[in-house]
Amino acid sequence: MRPQGNKLSDWKTGEVVSFLFLIRNTTVGKHYLNRTIIPALCRKAGVPLADVRGNITTHRARSTIASQLFNAKEPMTLFELQEWLGHASPSATQHYAKITPLKLAKSYADAGYFARNLRAIEVLIDQAAVRTGIAPADPWKFYDLGHGYCTYDFFEQCPHRMACAKCDFYMPKQSSAALLLEGKANLLRLLQEIPLGEAEEAAVEDGVAAYEKLLLKLTDIPTPAGPTQRQIGSDLVQIMALRPSRTTSSDHL
Ligand code: SF4
Repeated sequence: MRPQGNKLSDWKTGEVVSFLFLIRNTTVGKHYLNRTIIPALCRKAGVPLADVRGNITTHRARSTIASQLFNAKEPMTLFELQEWLGHASPSATQHYAKITPLKLAKSYADAGYFARNLRAIEVLIDQAAVRTGIAPADPWKFYDLGHGYCTYDFFEQCPHRMACAKCDFYMPKQSSAALLLEGKANLLRLLQEIPLGEAEEAAVEDGVAAYEKLLLKLTDIPTPAGPTQRQIGSDLVQIMALRPSRTTSSDHL
C-alpha cells in the first residue's frame, strides 16, 4: 500500500493525474525511474532487466501498449494512436505501432494472394468405372476445359493446362465418347482448385495478347502424351495463321 499522493498536471497533456512514483510530492526523474526503480522492480518480480529488444524502460511500456492497441482485434488507426499518445506527427507514432507477425499473417491471408492464383475447374468422375474397375489406360476422371475434356489423371501437372495443346488425352465435347460420358447418370461433379503461374494468370485475366504469349512459350514444350504443341499443330499455328501482319517500319529497327 502506498499513501495517497497529490494529483499533478501531466507535462504532456496538461491533465491532472495521479503519478505512480512521487518523492516529496514531486515526480521522479526519468533516469531514476529507468536506472533504479525499474531494475529494482524487475529483480523483485524475477523478470530479466532486458530482452531481445533491449532494456526494460518506461518507454518500452508505452511502446508495448501502443503496439497492442494497434494490433488489437478492433485496432486503433495510426491517427487515433497518434492522438492517444499525444504525438505531434504520425511519423513519431509509426515507431510505436509495430505490426505483430500474427497481424501480418492475417492481413496477408485477408489480401487473398493465394486465392488470386487459384482457378476452380470442374472435374467429372465416372463413379461406375471407378467402382467396377477399368483397364489402366481407360479414363475415369475428366477435366472440363469448356470445349472438351482432358482425361489426363495429372491434369494439374500438365504445362499446357491453361492453353490445351489437345494431345492424345484430349476429348472434344462433340465426340461420341464425350456425349456418351455426359449421358451417364452416375457422374460425380467436383470442383478442383488449380494453382496458376504468372503467365497463366495473365492469360486468364488479360485476354488474347497474354494468351498468345503463353501459347508461344509452350510451343516446344512436350505434352504429357509426348508431342509438342508445334508437332500437334494446334491453336498457336492456327492463331498465327489467322493474325493480320502487324509489321511496321519500327519492326525493322
Ligand atoms: S495438353 Fe493434353 S494433358 Fe494437357 S491439358 Fe490438354 S489434353 Fe490435357
